[in-house]
Amino acid sequence: MRIIYKCSVCGDACFGQNRQCILHCSKEKWKRNDSRTNQFFNKLKQLYVNSKSSTLTLEKIKFPFLNDFLWLDDSFQYVNRIIFLECCFSGYSSFSLHKNVPEIFFSKCSFEKSFKFSRFNNSTISLSYCIILNSITFIDNDAIKVKIKHSSLKENNCLAFIKNNDLTVNVYGMNNVVPGRTEGIIVFNSDKIESIDVGSSQLKVLKIASESCLSRHLKCKDLSAECLNLLETSFLEDSTVLFEECFVDECFFNRIVNKTRFIQFNALTVKSQLKWSKFDLRNTYFNDFDLSECSLLFDKVNFIGAHLNSIEWNENFSKMKTSIATITQIKSMYDEQKNFHLADCFYSLEMNQRRIDPNLEFPKKIVSYVNWKISNYGMSYIRPIFILFYSAFIATVLDMTLQGNFELVIDSNGNFFKVIDIILNILNRCSDFIIPFSYEAFSGDNGKLFRCDQLDGFFSLLYIIWSSIIIWHIIVAVKRINRR
Ligand SMILES: [Zn+2]
Repeated sequence: MRIIYKCSVCGDACFGQNRQCILHCSKEKWKRNDSRTNQFFNKLKQLYVNSKSSTLTLEKIKFPFLNDFLWLDDSFQYVNRIIFLECCFSGYSSFSLHKNVPEIFFSKCSFEKSFKFSRFNNSTISLSYCIILNSITFIDNDAIKVKIKHSSLKENNCLAFIKNNDLTVNVYGMNNVVPGRTEGIIVFNSDKIESIDVGSSQLKVLKIASESCLSRHLKCKDLSAECLNLLETSFLEDSTVLFEECFVDECFFNRIVNKTRFIQFNALTVKSQLKWSKFDLRNTYFNDFDLSECSLLFDKVNFIGAHLNSIEWNENFSKMKTSIATITQIKSMYDEQKNFHLADCFYSLEMNQRRIDPNLEFPKKIVSYVNWKISNYGMSYIRPIFILFYSAFIATVLDMTLQGNFELVIDSNGNFFKVIDIILNILNRCSDFIIPFSYEAFSGDNGKLFRCDQLDGFFSLLYIIWSSIIIWHIIVAVKRINRR
């Protein structure tokens, strides 16, 4: 008696040598355009015709290579909803429909080879708890909504959106096959995007490029990515852009057209490098923008109209690569927002950049150099105070040496009390030099600033000018630091 094996999934007769029917058996060895594919589709049609439902539910089916014209022909014309449950797409699949299906839902499916959705119109395509082991591409679709939840994307594989019109994408909980590694890439290329929401996801790259434009909103919340890359992207009028609680290694924004109502960076940390070029930051709000550990490059970035509420700059932000014009803009924005401390930091940076500018005239360069050395352009009052004391000490010792006051020390040959006497004497006279116009300095022993005849006149005048400059620096620095 011949034994008939039943499919372990559905109970139908097994196909060939398999332990499953033609729908549920493995197609790993099936080739593209395999003759068995027709048999597979006939069985699928039969399944649908028997169900007589507008919903086509396909469970645990392993799909062979699919292409446009084999898939969903007229026999499926009454289908308006397709549900794939735990299905496996083991061959390359190009998925486009003869008729429009408003809702397509994949749950716990595995996409082993590249998969393509094209020419969909007004459909919602959802993937939930799916494993994407290759790439999924949405190309040339119109008014589609793509919802991807709790799915994983394997290393360097791509979820690509290309030339779609009126596209809405919602990605939530996109993680990786290997936990803790950022591997997958999401790319938008030449799309007309209505909105993008990316939440609680871990990615290698999120890229919006090639004249993609956004009409409603871009929202990234709780995103961790190695690279956030926006290139040749337009934010259209009345759109909004929000990055919140995001953590990225590299942030590259290049040639961004900004007509948004606002762009907000709330709690965004850039770890390694930030390169922005040709980006207009008006209506951009920076709240908790952490740049403390990354290198910075701003090229033709406009900061006028930006709200620099709280940016944590790298302590080494003087190494920032940018133009003097950009630094001046950042400084003036901080001035406008009454953040004088950071305004002063950028003023100092601006002055430093001007000093090393090869086109600066030589005399101005000298003045700039002296200002830099004395007080870092009024940023430090400790340094000029120290210089003032040091100058007074040098002047006193010089003065006393020329008057022969140190001969006592040399003569006494190490007499301790005499040494103390000399030190006290230096300190006492030093105080006269600290304030150059003091009564004591002018009316000392000889009634002159330098009581030695050789140093009278010219040197006294030089010392007065020098110490006045230093005191002016102290006053400016104290005033700058304490202004309201
Ligand atoms: Zn079966």
